[in-house]
Order: sequence, then structure tokens, then C-alpha cells
Amino acid sequence: MKTVLITGGSRGIGAACARLFAEKGWRVLVNYRNDDDAADALAGETGCELFKADVSDRDAVYAMRDEIERRGFMPDVLINNAGVALFGLFQYIEPEQADRMYGTNLFGTLNCTRAFLPSMVERKDGAVINLSSVWGEVGASCEVDYSTAKAAIVGFTKALAKEVGFSGVRVNCLSPGVIDTDMNASLTVADVEAIVDSIPLERLGLAEDVAKAAYFLASDEAAYITGAVLPVDGGWKG
Ligand code: NAP
Repeated sequence: MKTVLITGGSRGIGAACARLFAEKGWRVLVNYRNDDDAADALAGETGCELFKADVSDRDAVYAMRDEIERRGFMPDVLINNAGVALFGLFQYIEPEQADRMYGTNLFGTLNCTRAFLPSMVERKDGAVINLSSVWGEVGASCEVDYSTAKAAIVGFTKALAKEVGFSGVRVNCLSPGVIDTDMNASLTVADVEAIVDSIPLERLGLAEDVAKAAYFLASDEAAYITGAVLPVDGGWKG
């Protein structure tokens, strides 16, 4: 049985990944930070194993890794999905807010990859799937820090793919457009209509759309794909 670890899996895109991988017969490990009720409900529904840890905290990530190893569940696939948004003019963002955003989106991705990559390299098999964003490719006004973190994730993906390709480990990232999750809960109906008007496929993305792309990158169907940035954006480029 293959095992996937999904960070930030209690809600949204991560939870959709947990449902899909469980449906496909994988052992699913779900990391989350706060939302015990959502995580418990997901575990009841999918049978996934829960690991509560803040991915921005390196010690917490290594403690999670040790617990996963102790239980014999070292993952074949790591999905670095945990993320938080940060809206506002760059010059007015409080540094602490920016630190939290970079800590989760960027350093969380690095922390988890550092913790779980060695066992993949040792086995000469594995896949890392990172969550970037269309904003990481084209940049967004009022989301400058977020765009910066997501652009760094693209760079990280491409560089690490080169470094570990010979070890049989693939590293790719997803670049979602606007996906209908809690992260976009602050959008008004008018905002959503304006965005949908500019999306070639004429709808917001669903968490399930991103989960299907993650499953593809995790599967043997993507055996010759590494260092790629796969858009899941309905054709929308921001
Ligand atoms: P979401 O619905 O807001 O869910 C975020 C998840 O991340 C939750 O499970 C949350 O757990 C977890 N999380 C947050 N901080 C964490 C931390 N420090 N450690 C561990 N878990 C943490 O977000 P989403 O829309 O599904 O987004 C998932 C990923 O896709 C993010 O990386 C996001 O940047 C990216 N993305 C999203 C969109 C979009 O339009 N939604 C577009 C492009 C990219 P708790 O609830 O327990 O805190």
C-alpha cells in the first residue's frame, strides 16, 4: 500500500486530496495545525491518520516525522499543501504577519521536504508535490509577499528536481488559479463574478480539480515528469 502525507489537509485542497487518495486505496496521513473538528470529521470519513503540527515550526515537523517513522508510515509521496493567504499593500503588512505567511507557505514546504526526502532518496523512489499558485508565476498586487513565497516554491521545485532526479525522486508543483475554498471566503459575489468573467473555462476551480492533478503527479502515469509547474486554473492567468 502506498502512503501519502498531505500537509494542511484538514480543509480545502488538502482535504480533497485526502478523500481522493483514500478512495484510490492509499494510506493517507493528514497534517494540520488548528482545526481539530474538521480533521476528526475527515478521519471519520476517509480513515486517514492525523498528525497535528505547525509546518512552520521545524522541531514540530521533525517530531511529526519521528512519530510517522515510529509507526512505519514513512510516505512515498509528500504533498506540501499547507498555506495561508495574506492580503494588503506590501508597505503596510506587519512583519509578523509576513513571517507567518512565509513560515507556512515557504519554510513549511522546505521543513517538510527536508524531513521526508531522505527516506525517499534512500529507497530511490518517491514524489514531492508542492503547491505554488498562479500568483507565483505572474505576481499579484496586494499579495506581494504571497506571490514571492509561491514564486520561491517554483524555483525550489525546479532546483530540487534536478538535484534528486538521479535518486528516483520526482519533484513537481501545482499552480492553481482561483479555487473555491475557505482561503477565498472574503471574496464578495461581485468579486467572484468579475473573476469568473475572465476565466476561459467560466467557473472557479474546485478543490477536487486540484486533487485530481495532485493524484496524477503522484501516480506512475507521471513517471517521466519532474521539475514541472502544472497549471490548474481553467486557463486563467491572473
Ligand atoms: P484553506 O482551505 O485555507 O486550508 C488551509 C489548510 O492549511 C488547512 O487545513 C489549515 O489547517 C492548514 N494550515 C495552515 N497553516 C498551517 C500550518 N502552519 N501548519 C500546518 N497546516 C496549516 O487553503 P486552500 O485553499 O485549500 O489552499 C491549499 C494550498 O493551495 C495553499 O498552499 C494555497 O496557498 C494554495 N493555493 C490555493 C488557491 C486558492 O484559490 N484556494 C490558489 C492557489 C494556491 P488548520 O485549519 O488546522 O489551520
